[in-house]
Amino acid sequence: MFLADLHCHSFFSDGTDSPFALLEIAHQNGLGALSITDHDTVDAYSDELFLKAKELGIELLTGVEISSELDGQSVHILGYGFDVKDEKLLSFLKKIKERRAVRNRAILDKLKEYGMPIEEEELQELTQNKTAGRPHIASLMIQRGYVESMQEAFDKYLKEGASCYVFGIRQHPKEVIELLHKSSAKAVLAHPHFFRKKGFLRRLLSLGFDGIECYYGKLEKVFEAPILEIAKRHNLLITGGSDYHGSIKPHLFLGCSWTPEESFLKLKGRNNP
Ligand code: AMP
Ligand code: FE
Ligand code: FE
Ligand code: ZN
Repeated sequence: MFLADLHCHSFFSDGTDSPFALLEIAHQNGLGALSITDHDTVDAYSDELFLKAKELGIELLTGVEISSELDGQSVHILGYGFDVKDEKLLSFLKKIKERRAVRNRAILDKLKEYGMPIEEEELQELTQNKTAGRPHIASLMIQRGYVESMQEAFDKYLKEGASCYVFGIRQHPKEVIELLHKSSAKAVLAHPHFFRKKGFLRRLLSLGFDGIECYYGKLEKVFEAPILEIAKRHNLLITGGSDYHGSIKPHLFLGCSWTPEESFLKLKGRNNP
């Protein structure tokens, strides 16, 4: 069977593996295709990586997971099949990076107020060349002994609505979808089962997505089924992926969820022959 895992992270965002290691693991796990969808960066993709994929017989589809916000709720949008040198996309991602830096600083200020100081330099040192975000801040909080686990850091301080959460990666989902379309990419709504409010998902789906991530990580069938229904009703491409992050989320493995071949073929843009 042709397995395409179209959602995973390398150490260019908050994963622990290199892009090359991801290809190796994909090969070991018998995957036919892979997309590395780092948060707000396409730095994982290089000519050497495409060569390596070819050697291993894996189809590498360009991908990215872009952060957006609607009504103060964070919405992740997967983009597939763009040219990694696309200027519009690259300048958009640069803008997000700058907003992230401002937001991370604001989170660190709040943590200081709560008696958990972390210097900006420490975060920079940890996240050189990476998309820096809350998971990195959480790991510094663990290092300092402020919390015992990633989950505790999020639950008590960093999750949406918690005391040290800061909004700030502000682009509207519509803006992200339009940008992706201008870059000849497909836009897919990531992990829609996160949204508990019914009307919210309906609003999102009116914005022009091409697909929706129905198979996700180790999501149980009861949560999967309603999303599949919605995909069919709205005539959206059905995609899937593991959201593998390496050793920081050890319960997920590359290929634990995948995209049907039919959708994969439709997602491949002209830049992915
Ligand atoms: P950021 O891009 O800085 O907003 O961080 C988003 C990332 O934090 C997500 O991709 C997840 O990996 C992680 N994350 C978000 N919410 C939680 C949560 N409640 N528990 C654990 N990890 C989370
Ligand atoms: Fe992540
Ligand atoms: Fe996500
Ligand atoms: Zn992800």
